Amino acid sequence: MPLSESALIERYFRGLGAQRTDVPLGIGDDAALLECPPDAQLVATTDTLVAGVHFPPATAPAAIGHRALAVNLSDLAAMGARPAWALLALTLPQADEDWLAEFAAGLARLARAHNVALVGGDTTRGPLTVTLQLLGCVPQGAALTRAGGRAGDELYVSGTPGDAGAGLALLEGRLTAPAAAAAYLRERFLAPSPRVALGERLRGYASACIDVSDGLLGDAGKLAQASGSALTLEFESLPVSEPLEQALGAEAARELALTAGDDYELCFSVPALESARLMRELPPQHWNYRRIGALRAGAGVAVTRGGTVMEFSHSGYQHFS
Ligand code: ADP
Ligand code: MG
Repeated sequence: MPLSESALIERYFRGLGAQRTDVPLGIGDDAALLECPPDAQLVATTDTLVAGVHFPPATAPAAIGHRALAVNLSDLAAMGARPAWALLALTLPQADEDWLAEFAAGLARLARAHNVALVGGDTTRGPLTVTLQLLGCVPQGAALTRAGGRAGDELYVSGTPGDAGAGLALLEGRLTAPAAAAAYLRERFLAPSPRVALGERLRGYASACIDVSDGLLGDAGKLAQASGSALTLEFESLPVSEPLEQALGAEAARELALTAGDDYELCFSVPALESARLMRELPPQHWNYRRIGALRAGAGVAVTRGGTVMEFSHSGYQHFS
């Protein structure tokens, strides 16, 4: 007998993730009751993953569960918020119990790691689609936004962008790489590590912040535009991982770091006068970020190399065709 919707929810989703004391009523009623701390603002985000659009159809279910939460954690990280509660709208072609068990395990592992409780959702039949809504809190008035940067601010990025884009290309057979490098890059696509702790710590340092999901060049450009500034990115300063360099060479690795998606790193600006304090109090080698450029007066994005401006359009690079 196929699993009923209520049995499915009971078996795989009730109690998933962290147990939190600020959930007086979770899964099982018509809606959840949640308690925001006093003096905090609620921060809300949602993202949808469609099979064949946002991940290859054959992706392991645990990785889909991980990614569904990771992409939303990254949005809250960019706001400097602390994640707390998730709702899951799941559309499934059929109630495959092996698939559900693995999906729930992948989701639960990351949820517990970030103290997130699953407090509700919806389950429907149709082409595989995963929509996760994530709620969190930030002290009143302390949220980071894209708009707070000013000309003269330094620009930083966390991690090594480009890895996930290469990982996806490997999974789709558009790229080959030595085995160890390929394994690392694939994992960076399948199991991104959203920079939640860094986002929270950046409150009080960063003037603006955005998460890098659609390519560093475009996303940093959005931050600059929202901040009413132009942006200069220094090609030689772009951090790239060793496996990415092994797979593509130094030049193409940096091009991919600028243009590939799915990184889920943070890009943030810091007033020049605050940069020394940032470096001292949040050591870059511990927090894993690097200066890549600066906001300037004006509008638009320039990538410079040895002092000269490179020709670079957002969609101009077709790496694997
Ligand atoms: P309703 O008809 O009131 O929406 P449902 O039968 O859809 O009720 O859901 C029952 C309970 O299970 C609700 O608390 C709902 O939030 C929760 N729920 C349904 N689907 C999911 C899911 N995929 N993940 C987590 N909770 C879910
Ligand atoms: Mg429902």
